[in-house]
Amino acid sequence: MKVLVAVKRVVDYNVKIRVKSDGSGVDNAGVKMSMNPFDEIAVEEAVRLKEHGKVAEIVAVSCGVAACGETLRTAMAIGADRAVLVETEAELQPLAVAKLLKAVVEKEGVQLVIMGKQAIDDDANQTGQMLAALLGWSQATFASKVEIDDTQAKVTREVDGGLETIAVKLPAVITTDLRLNEPRYVTLPNIMKAKKKPLDTLKPEELGVDVSPRLKTLKVAEPPKRGAGVKVPDVATLVARLKTEAKVI
Ligand code: AMP
Repeated sequence: MKVLVAVKRVVDYNVKIRVKSDGSGVDNAGVKMSMNPFDEIAVEEAVRLKEHGKVAEIVAVSCGVAACGETLRTAMAIGADRAVLVETEAELQPLAVAKLLKAVVEKEGVQLVIMGKQAIDDDANQTGQMLAALLGWSQATFASKVEIDDTQAKVTREVDGGLETIAVKLPAVITTDLRLNEPRYVTLPNIMKAKKKPLDTLKPEELGVDVSPRLKTLKVAEPPKRGAGVKVPDVATLVARLKTEAKVI
C-alpha cells in the first residue's frame, strides 16, 4: 500500500508570534519555521506502519513556497521515501490545499492519506475533512491509535470526554491527534540520507488546480494584554473579592 503524508511548513511552535503593525497578518520575517507538529506525528505513524510491513511506500507532500522543500527533507529524514513539492507563492487556504492534495493522490495512486488534524498557524482543522469529501473517501479524524489491514483501518479517535473506535474502509484519510505517537529524533545520518532521496516539484497549474483564495482576512489582532494580579491576605478575602468584584462565584 502506498501512503501520502501531508506536511505543512509553519512558524515553529516555540516562537512567540508577532502580528504585523497593519493587522493584515502574522510577521514571518526572520522567524524560525518548522514542520507542523501534527504532521510530524503523521510522518512518524506512516513510518511505523511501513516498519510493521503494512505500507510499501511513503510519499510526503507539501504545498507552498520553495522553502517547503526543507520541510520535505525533514519528512524524508524521519523515513518518508520520497517527496513532492507543489510550489507556489500564492497564499494557500485549506480548500486549495485539499484540491492540490487530491490531484497528487490521484496522480500517485495512493490508498491512504495521513495528515495533521490541524495546522498550528491557521488552526483551520479543515484540510483533511475537505480532502476526504473531494475524493469521496472514508475519513477518520483526531486519531490516537491506528491499525491497518488490507481493506480497512481501525482508528481510535479522541472525542469530547473519551475515546471512540471506528472502522473505516480503505481508501481513507486519517488525521492525527497529539497522543497518536511520539515522533523519533531525526539523526544526522538520516538527514544525510534524506538529501539523496527524490524530491519532485510540480506547479498548481500542472495539476489543473485553481488556488485563488476564497476567504478574505479582515483583521488579525494579538490577544488583549492581561492585567496585573493582586495578592490577597487570606481565603475569606479571596472568596469575597471573587463574589463582589470579579463576580465569578
Ligand atoms: P488545516 O486544515 O489548515 O488546519 O491543516 C490540517 C492539515 O492539512 C495539516 O496538519 C497538514 O497535514 C495539511 N496541510 C495544510 N496545509 C498544507 C500545506 N500547505 N501543505 C501540505 N499540507 C498541508
